[in-house]
Parts: sequence; C-alpha cells; structure tokens
Amino acid sequence: MNLFSVKMRASRRTRDGEEHISGAERIVRAGDVPGLVSALVSRAQNHGKGRPDFTNIKIEAVPESACLRLPALPVRALDCADPAEGLRLAAGLLARAGVADPQAVLALLREAGGLRGAMLLDADSLERLEPDKRRGVRATCMDGAEVAAADAAGKNHYQEAMVLASKVAHAPNILAEICISDDPDYVTGYVASRELGYVRIAQMKTPGSLEGGRIFLYRGPRAELAATLDFIERRPVLVENIPAAPGFGAPNASSAPAGPDKWAFLDEGLERLSAGGLRRNIRAMGSAPGPRVRCEGRDVLLLASNDYLGLADDARVKARAAEALAAYGAGSGGSRLTTGALELHDELERRLAPFKHAEAALLFNTGYMANVGVITTLCGKGDVIFSDELNHASIIDGCRQSRAEIVVYRHNDMEDLEARARLHAGRRGLIVRDAVFSMDGDLVPLPELLRIADRYGFLSMIDEAHATGVLGATGRGAAEHFGLAAAPDVTVGTLSKALGSEGGFVCGNARLIEYLKNSARSFIFSTALSAAPVAAALEALDILCREPERVRRLRENTAFFCARLREGGVAARSASAIVPLIVGDEKKAVDAARELFDAGLYLSAIRYPSVPRGAARLRATVRADHAGEDLAEAARRIVLALHQVQEKS
Ligand SMILES: *Cc1c(COP(=O)(O)O)cnc(C)c1O
Repeated sequence: MNLFSVKMRASRRTRDGEEHISGAERIVRAGDVPGLVSALVSRAQNHGKGRPDFTNIKIEAVPESACLRLPALPVRALDCADPAEGLRLAAGLLARAGVADPQAVLALLREAGGLRGAMLLDADSLERLEPDKRRGVRATCMDGAEVAAADAAGKNHYQEAMVLASKVAHAPNILAEICISDDPDYVTGYVASRELGYVRIAQMKTPGSLEGGRIFLYRGPRAELAATLDFIERRPVLVENIPAAPGFGAPNASSAPAGPDKWAFLDEGLERLSAGGLRRNIRAMGSAPGPRVRCEGRDVLLLASNDYLGLADDARVKARAAEALAAYGAGSGGSRLTTGALELHDELERRLAPFKHAEAALLFNTGYMANVGVITTLCGKGDVIFSDELNHASIIDGCRQSRAEIVVYRHNDMEDLEARARLHAGRRGLIVRDAVFSMDGDLVPLPELLRIADRYGFLSMIDEAHATGVLGATGRGAAEHFGLAAAPDVTVGTLSKALGSEGGFVCGNARLIEYLKNSARSFIFSTALSAAPVAAALEALDILCREPERVRRLRENTAFFCARLREGGVAARSASAIVPLIVGDEKKAVDAARELFDAGLYLSAIRYPSVPRGAARLRATVRADHAGEDLAEAARRIVLALHQVQEKS
C-alpha cells in the first residue's frame, strides 16, 4: 500500500532572500491527505514567528514497504531552575554522550539557529560537515507510526521532535543531537542519543526568544558521511511506540498523555524538592578525579573528592589494578562464600588488619555495606546502640535494620553519652561514631569514648571512612592520632576515599570476623569485589605506608587553605581534610556552589538530609596534591562568593 509524505514549508521574503518560518511533515494514508494539508496550511498561517509570504506543500507517494520502522528513543524530562541550569544539564549530557567539548557545541547553537536545517559537526574537531552550509542538513521523510489520522493534523511539538530525534539517533555515525526550539512560545530543548535516549530539558532559553538551533554530532570516517546524509534526508522512517510526553509540570510542557499518569507523584515530589532548593543534580565528570578535572566541558579545580591522597589516578595503583583485571577478569562471578573468593581478597585483609592494629579484617563491597553488615550482626532486638546524632547515614541504616533500641546522644558530647550509657549499664550494647564526621570534619574524642565503653561494658566502634589516610602521622586513623595503643573493638573503613579505590572493610578480633562471614547479610548476599579494585587498594595501601609524607602534605594543605579562608573573614577550621563552610540557607548554598563552578571550582553544596535543615553548607575537601597557588586562588574566590550570597536577602 502507498503512504504519502506531506511536507509544508513556510517562509518570509527578506531583502536578500527568504527566511524560514515553519516546516512540518507527516506520512499518512491517502484518505488523510486533504485534512492534513488544510491543517498544515493553517498552522503556517498562524505561526508565532509571523505570517509567511510563501507556503509550499509537497505531497509525495512513499511505498509502505520502503519505510524503515524504528523504535522511539526512551524519553525523560529534566527540570531546571533557569536556562543557565538547562544549558549546564545539556552540556553534561553531551559529555556523557562522548562529546569532547560540549561548551563549544553550545556556543555554536546560536549560529546553527540561522540555518534552515541542522548544523552537522564532527564531534571531535567541530568542523562543519554540511554540504550546503547555508541550508544545513534537514531531517525529513519521517513520522510516528501510530499517529491517529485526527492527531496527524494537529500541532504537537513533542511528537514531531521525538520522531526527528529517533530517526537521527539511528542514523549511521551520529553520536548525539542537541536542539533548542526556535519557537518563541517554547523554552524547552533536548539532547538525544541512542544511549541517553531523548532527554527533554525544561528551560534552555528565555520565554519569547527566537533563538534556537539544532546540531547533529558526527563521529566516523568522512567516506561514510554520504550514507549518513542520505539516511537523515531521504530514508522514509516510521517511528514506533512513541512514549507519552514526560511532564515538567512547567507551563510549556506540551500535550499531556492520555489517562492517569502512574508516575505523577514522583514529578510532584521532585518539584517540591526543587522549590526547597533540595533537588540534586549529578555532574558528569569526564576525567580521573583530580586535582583538576574535566567536568561538564570545563576544567575545574576539584574540592569535592574524597581521594585525599591523589591515589585514584596514581600510575602504580592503576597498573596493579590493570594487571589484576587482566589476570582475573572484570567481575568476581559470585559471593565470596560461593564462587567469588580470590587470594587477593585474603591478601588485602591480611594487610588491612595490622594497619588498623586489629587481628583480622573482612572486605565488603562498600563502606555502606560494611556498616550495615557489622551493626546488624552485633546488635539485635533487646540490645541498645548509642549513636551520635550526626552519624553517617550508613550507620543510621545499620542501626535501624538491627532493630535494637537506638539511643541518640548529642553530637560529640561525651557527657551526654556517658549519662545515657549509665542508664543502660548491664545491657548488651554498642557505642558507634564516625571517626571524622563526613560533613563537618570534626574528630571523635576517642580516648573518652573508649573509657565510657569500657566502664559500662559496651562494645565500641568507629567508622574511619574519612580518617584512614588522613589522621595520625602515618594515616592509620584516630587511634594513631590520639597515640592510643588499643584500637576500638570494631573499626570500619572504606577503600573508596583516601585509598582511591572502592570497597569497604571491618577490622576487629578474629572471632568477630569469623562470625561476620557467617552472618553479615551484606557480605553473604552480594557478589564479591572484583579483582581490580582490590589490587588497586593493595597498591594504595603500600604507597601510603611507604610515603607517609603524603599524609603530612595533606595536613599542611588543609591548614594553609583554612588560614587563607580565615584571612578573608570566613570561619574555616578542620581537624581532618574536610572543610565545612556553613551558609545556612539551602538555596544560597546551591547558588554559591554554582557560581564557584562557573568560576572553575568544583565543591559541593551539602543540604538536608545530609545535614540538618538550615545548616546547608559548602563542603570543601583538600587533597595532598593540591598546588598551593590553586588553594590560595580557590580560597580567594570562595571568600568572594560567600560574601556575595550572604549579602543577597
Ligand atoms: C563515605 C562514607 C561511608 C560509605 O563508604 P562507601 O565505601 O562510599 O560506601 C561510610 N561512612 C562514612 C562516615 C562515610 O563518609
């Protein structure tokens, strides 16, 4: 059977030619052609960009058998506060799609808006590849496969954009597409690729703006360019299963899906978070974690990583991981108890235990799982856990899962702890705390905590996620810092911070470790760490032991950075490598972080629920490999940004 491609183009006469106003096309059955033509003409006549001087309609028969049927891209929507944030999101998506310099692509969008079609760029060199540079490349010969005849006449930006994006994403050698609507009634745009899907962005320009544009990014041999152009411009395509439009709840979201939306409650939840300045957004990093990184297309100084000693990107660490990867493969294949155990796991445990002055150690997949595993093993119904009010979420989750009674004591207040411990003396219980608070950077008063635990017969546990590699002359942690001969009963740590790898561990006596292997559910029911991160951590631990000067440098850098901040009038102090810069208001903290990012500094805004409401802050983490001049410059900019946001009411 024949289908008909119906194309409409409307343009305006200008002094030196024609200016494009509007275009649309559909592929429909013969009977739907007249109605569609009438609707398209009326659409051309009533366009927001003004009355056309020319309206062309072209009707062309297309054999149904010649139509390629393609699946629609999966679709999702990203909300944002303003066009600047929308553009940042777009840059992040382009980076994830593999585009080397997303900012440069964004800069070319305005120029692309002058073309009738899309700009076609080499994704790496950004060389323009359109055969006709004034016209651009026009994606045509396409429609949704299931558009009802009645629908086909109407105007549906979302539907048309989905069809185009789905076709283009499936064109050979097309890496990604970015588009901002040039319609003054719309502020939306999207980034699309086969991997990302169609990601609609709520705001990419200001309302009423005629700016817009479309860029296709090409990565492939020049010899194959002709095939790509032929596919985009001439191959008839019907796009199947177009999903309902995702809503931002913004005024410009187009046609709502039919029927009740089962996911609407999530949109509402996200909107509430946005309104309170609590919506999170993940920045796409395009390089190893520091000290300078490529992030969303820009080079920034990283003050947000926990890779304190710069070991994540250390050549020796990477080489040892690569060897292990080659020898043992990418995945471990199973839980340690079934199939996944490697000699490397045992070796790392044998190294970690003495490092923490313990008899034995057990690896977990993450520090989070280590905390949950050990707390739920040690405590159960009828027991009592004394937990600092600012303890890390993984400790809190472990406490909750254990079903023990949880007694929360005031932050760092050993008198309060002792008073509460006295009330529960004689019961089986655990006193647990972060050794270094992850959001404030302050230290456990370990000698006092151990004294209280001993006096009332409770187990003691500290989580050294931010202490390992940071505290003590050789980075062994809080016990070394305080010059204690004895460690707490249980020490939890992570391989993912100063050790530059990933994974978690528990250190304690041999009985505890043996028991954990038989009882900790987060150990038993999870696939073992693969060889590469274990080998990386082994090497990192070796380096830490051989090069304690890294720990010293970290301490000196932190002291220097805090001193510079204080000279600028910002209260900055840290006993670890975490420097909290309290802002208070959630939105102000986010604004400050955003401004600093634009100025080339990446530090995170920390908000509820990571910290209490109204205690939002910037959190800077210092590294051993930060250069002094970088830290001085960072402090100067932070001082400026903090003064600025605090002045805004
Ligand atoms: C980061 C962190 C954890 C979790 O460690 P992961 O290995 O990242 O899961 C646990 N506790 C504290 C205090 C942390 O800061």
